[in-house]
Amino acid sequence: MFEIKGISYQYQQKTILDIENWQANQGEKWLLLGKSGSGKSTLLNLLAGFLKNQKGKILIHNQDIHQLTPTQQDQFRAKNIGFIFQKPHLISSLNVLQNMLLAQYCANIPQNPQKCTEILESLELETHTHKFPHQLSQGQAQRLAVARAVLNNPVLILADEPTASVDDENAQNIIQLLQTQAQRCNATLVVATHDQRVKTQFEKKFEL
Ligand code: ADP
Ligand code: MG
Repeated sequence: MFEIKGISYQYQQKTILDIENWQANQGEKWLLLGKSGSGKSTLLNLLAGFLKNQKGKILIHNQDIHQLTPTQQDQFRAKNIGFIFQKPHLISSLNVLQNMLLAQYCANIPQNPQKCTEILESLELETHTHKFPHQLSQGQAQRLAVARAVLNNPVLILADEPTASVDDENAQNIIQLLQTQAQRCNATLVVATHDQRVKTQFEKKFEL
């Protein structure tokens, strides 16, 4: 599904990532482990093409995304990758449903409120569709971020420390949600964390 070969990444001449090889198959669920500062976010951003690769190869479905033009990269990402940032990054002037519709618009997919509502329902957000982000609890905002990330049936779901700022119960819920949604799309899931609480919920682990 994806393949990382011989990559390294530097900030200001300091190498913070050095990965010889990491391969993941379609539908696998991975935990990306490493203490704070070990390069987890950098690696997720490289996988999503938000950061430009400096050395080695990153292939997603045999496609080297760093060979694409910026526009092609945006389209590839919008169509294939669901990214859940540490903070929800919702558009504050748009309501819940509009935040979802925007994700379809950005991916060049016809806007389909019915599909948005279905996903919102599966994440128990159906009664909040007309609320604005500031009217949501932290847990609801995070579920909306998950809903938006999985809306276009991505083949790869990347989540950066999704449980960092939630209590134990919500941490379990969010991991469960990510796993269920990944299963639904048959997507490969990568959850970056240093959260010990979620370690037992994944069979596959990659440690930085
Ligand atoms: P993690 O997500 O595992 O905490 P990061 O990928 O955020 O790790 O960061 C890895 C290292 O790179 C850290 O030492 C961090 O300080 C450094 N770093 C991250 N982003 C930048 C940046 N934009 N400029 C310079 N250094 C950075
Ligand atoms: Mg990080």
